[in-house]
This record gives sequence, C-alpha cells and structure tokens, in this order.
Amino acid sequence: MTSDDNLYLLHPHSVVGRPTPPVVIDRGQGARVWDVEGTAYIDGTCGLWQCAVGHGRAELAAVAAEQMQRLEFYTSFWDFSNEPSIRLAARLVELAPAGLGKVFFTNGGSEGTETAIKLARLARHATGEPDRTVVLSRTGAYHGVSGTAMAATGIERLKDGFGPQAVDFVHLSTPHGPTHGPAATDKLLVELEEAIETIGAHRITAMIGEPVLGVGGSVPPPEGYWPGVQAILRRHGILLILDETITAFGRTGHWFAAERFGVQPDLIITAKALSSGYVPMGAVLIGDQVIDMLDGTTFFHGFTYNGHPVGAAVALANLDIIEREGLLQRATVLGDRLLDGLVPLADLPHVREVRGCGLMIGITLESNDAPDVVARCRADGVIARGAANTIVLSPPLVITEPEVDTVCEVISRHVRRLGS
Ligand code: PMP
Repeated sequence: MTSDDNLYLLHPHSVVGRPTPPVVIDRGQGARVWDVEGTAYIDGTCGLWQCAVGHGRAELAAVAAEQMQRLEFYTSFWDFSNEPSIRLAARLVELAPAGLGKVFFTNGGSEGTETAIKLARLARHATGEPDRTVVLSRTGAYHGVSGTAMAATGIERLKDGFGPQAVDFVHLSTPHGPTHGPAATDKLLVELEEAIETIGAHRITAMIGEPVLGVGGSVPPPEGYWPGVQAILRRHGILLILDETITAFGRTGHWFAAERFGVQPDLIITAKALSSGYVPMGAVLIGDQVIDMLDGTTFFHGFTYNGHPVGAAVALANLDIIEREGLLQRATVLGDRLLDGLVPLADLPHVREVRGCGLMIGITLESNDAPDVVARCRADGVIARGAANTIVLSPPLVITEPEVDTVCEVISRHVRRLGS
C-alpha cells in the first residue's frame, strides 16, 4: 500500500519526488479515524475542517444511495433543476442572515471564491461601473487555489512559482485579535480607510475576508473589527464577501459566523460542513442588493456539478443532524473546554499565544517546531495540524468531553516537552 501510494499518488502540499510513508485512513466513527493497520486516532482537525457531524454516519450514506438510485445527476444549467437542490437552496436562505435570498451551488471553497468575486465584479459591470474591479483582502487569508481564489489568498508561499497572478487584489494587514486588544481594531480600520482613499472607492468592488482566519492559524479578529469594517465599506458602497468555507454551519457556535460577529455580508461563501465532506458540496449565498444590481444580466458561469442532487440531498440530511443534535451549542461548550485545557500553555516562555473561537483553536510557538509537535501527537493517537510555528485544532462538533481532555493532555505534553 505504502509503495503504491509513493509510486502513483501526488499529494496536495507534498514535496514532489520526496514522498513520505502515508497514513492510509481506512474508516471513521464520530471523532475517531482508524488507519489500515488498525491504529486509532482522535481526529483533532477533522481532516480539513469539514466533518462537522463526525465520521461514519450511516444515515448520510443511505440518503446518498437513495438519491443516486433515483437520479444520480442532471445539470442545473439554464432552466434544468432538481428537487434536492431546490430544497437545499430554500433551507440555506432560511438559515442565513437576513437579506441573502439566493443560492449558487459549487463543489467547494475555491469555486465559491471564484463565484463570489465574479458576481461582485459583474454586478459593477451591470450597473455602469466596469472599472470597479479591485478586491480588498488581507495577508494571512486563505481563499483557495484556483486563479482568482489564489490571487485573493494572502499567504505568499502558496503563490510562489505559479506565474502571473490575477490582478486588482490588494492585501491589508492580518486582523490578529486576541493579544492585541481594541487598539488593534482602530489601527486596522484606519488602514482600511487609507487604502480606500489611495485606491479610490470608485475602483473597489468588494472586500473579502474569513470571519476567523483558518489556514492562517485559527486567528479571531480583534473586538469590533467586523462591524467597523462593515460600516466603512457601506459608507463607500463596497460589497462585503465573507468566506465562511470553514466557519459556516456550526464551527463558531452559530450557523454563520456573520451572526457571531454582527455583520450582514453581501455574499457568503460556504462549503465543507455544508455536507460534512460526505460528498463535495459548496454554496454561495447572494445578497438581495447584488441580485438587484445584476437584474437582467446573464451570469455566464457555472461548474458542471452545480446543484448536484446527491450533494444536496446529503447536505439537507447533514443540516438536519446539526440541528437535531444541537451541534451549534456543542461547538461553543466543547470549544471552551478545549481552549480552557490548552490556555495554560500560554504561560510557557516558548509559547507565544493560545487562541480560539468555537471549535477553532490556534497555538503559536516561539519556534518553528509545530510540525515536530504534531508528529509526536500523531504517534500518540491525536491528529493536529502544524506548519512553521503554528498548531491548529478543529475537531468534529461531535467530539466528546473525554476526547477533548485527551487532546488537551497529548498536545500539552508535547508542547511542554519542547521547553525541557
Ligand atoms: N476558503 C477558505 C476559508 C478555506 O479554508 C478553503 C479550504 N481550506 C477554501 C476557501 C478552499 O476550499 P477548497 O479546498 O474546497 O477549494
């Protein structure tokens, strides 16, 4: 198995020609996964943040099978439609913050970013402001890997060597909350005002941002940041795109982090927990104002698998589980428990910060030892994510109290070990 993996597979984010022995994951249940050797792991990251309802839900498999037997797929282009995607669109509008009345389906986050930015630019074109093409983003942001999404991303190493980037993206400072206090908000808002002044509002279509930076290290913004940003953008007629690929459907304890931070975005990008990853599925929620601006314009955009009936059926059942099992509340309670268990690490001289928002936790070390810590945790049965100096945790919302305590114990042991 290992040799075939190394022979035939090129893994995302791997060094070409330098394969390492894979961890071949075989099955999962709740917040745990097992590899083919039978070793159990607590899934402290739920893969890539997606698995809200936990692994091994036979109910979702049954829904997928039933839908596949009825209709596996038919296009949603032009005037074709299917019942699961109609029902899912209605459900999303019902759950979403007020004023987001339409849904465009995708297969994931990058496609969501492409869609939202194309909508924002086309809306300007449609209303006689075709030069309004600039998109404001932030350093540390992750919005995906395709052309526009990569350009919107604010992590430079993810763009190196890929040639010319899409133009008209401007990156502002990372909104780093926990240790910087309210003064940080003022500074970021002044920077935003100045950027708008320099570029000219008449050239800016939208600002895009993750409510809490995810790949950038589970970084919540400083207090008051989002309402402050929204007020400035509104004053200048600039649209707000919230990339909730990670945060939507419970991870911060709300259906949408927009609610938690008190903002009313014009577009929301979602994916991941929409289907908990059982099948690829994403959705962009579109504000009424954007729809009004686009009135009468043809949207020449769409991915083949737009509105996939199997994805939509599974997403509906997944949202039912989140609601039925009270997983939003669980994310808050268990997120607090996880953070409380790890916060004592912040007193160590070699730990810079421990922060969190719901079930998104970030630990920044003073050294680039996060990959080493994460490797040791994995050997002790806990999967965490680590790059350079940052360790990130984002377990399924169904993780149990004892599992949280084990994660805290294992991570703490290996972080403390660094200093000895
Ligand atoms: N936006 C955000 C905030 C993300 O976290 C991700 C994926 N981690 C993406 C976009 C890209 O999503 P995908 O990999 O599904 O294209």
